[in-house]
Amino acid sequence: MKALPPETVRLLCSSQVITSVLNVVKELVENSLDAGSSSLEVKLENYGLDRIEVRDNGSGIKATDVPVMAVKHYTSKISCHEDLERLETYGFRGEALASICAISEVVITTKTADDDFSLQYSVDHNGQIVSQKPSHLGEGTTVCAANLFRKLPVRRQYYSNSKKCKEELKRVQNLLMAYAVVKPELRITLSLNKYGLWQRGKIKKNYTRFNMEIYLMFVQIGIDGFFPKPGSDLNSTSSSSPDKTFIFVNSRPVHHKEILKLIKQYYTSAQSNKESANRRYPILMMNITIPASTVDVNLTPDKTEVMLQNKEGVLLAVETMLISLYGYSIGDDDLKAGG
Ligand code: ADP
Ligand code: MG
Repeated sequence: MKALPPETVRLLCSSQVITSVLNVVKELVENSLDAGSSSLEVKLENYGLDRIEVRDNGSGIKATDVPVMAVKHYTSKISCHEDLERLETYGFRGEALASICAISEVVITTKTADDDFSLQYSVDHNGQIVSQKPSHLGEGTTVCAANLFRKLPVRRQYYSNSKKCKEELKRVQNLLMAYAVVKPELRITLSLNKYGLWQRGKIKKNYTRFNMEIYLMFVQIGIDGFFPKPGSDLNSTSSSSPDKTFIFVNSRPVHHKEILKLIKQYYTSAQSNKESANRRYPILMMNITIPASTVDVNLTPDKTEVMLQNKEGVLLAVETMLISLYGYSIGDDDLKAGG
């Protein structure tokens, strides 16, 4: 028996963290948000397979941090396990840049407020800086990842399929839309092969903003979001997949089956054609704000699964909010039919 060479280990692990174009965009955007950016530009070439670029106007990376910025498990966000209880950033594992380097060719340009000019660094597959040169870019950070999955031909082939490319692009658009909604002050643009695709849109007329603070057992739970108005048109406020039912916990996009199910039930119950509504998922954004110490976000590599210490309380708060909005309560016959 022999140990695998370190490059092989890196590629194997990284390709589990970074499984798609969407993952790369999500990790880069979250780094930009963690750096306090108010403006984000996302550029894709060939649906991101040839190039993904995320440019921000955030804090930049300090020169002393640059040598380790793409080394696995180096992070500026937490310094010990206890810090997770006060986590206010999206990142905390110091894994994303290292993983993106392993599966693509990465160039990072950065400038902090203290730097005179920006520097552009080429980073190798091991996360090491191989060259640097001055650049004209202003304050903030630009990360460019080129030739995604070149060493993983099966995956590259899979994502190269034109239907898959378009699906992936839709998911990227949906994700950016969700960040735009959860962060109203953020400017965010997306372009594909240099064509502007998307900018923060207006809230549709079928939608309503709703926010509520709920106190349960001395814990404050905040719920804020955009929801289809009761009785709104089914076609324009729902989708056949749950991809656009955005659930955030402390501004982090999450997958939570029980919350999703609850939302879907109430939405269905508010529709006149319950049978059609039952097969659809509402397009909405809900951000649940709870104390950081009551959430475990470290369950999956992509940080989208969360464990809630006070799950029952959170579900109750969500339900209270939905009753206020849609006017049904569990036990109503309509709701039972809602599935
Ligand atoms: P994590 O986000 O978990 O810390 P990453 O690998 O995503 O790990 O990033 C490593 C480090 O690089 C971050 O902790 C941060 O200090 C720095 N960094 C990455 N992207 C940016 C950015 N856009 N702006 C400022 N700093 C960044
Ligand atoms: Mg990160």
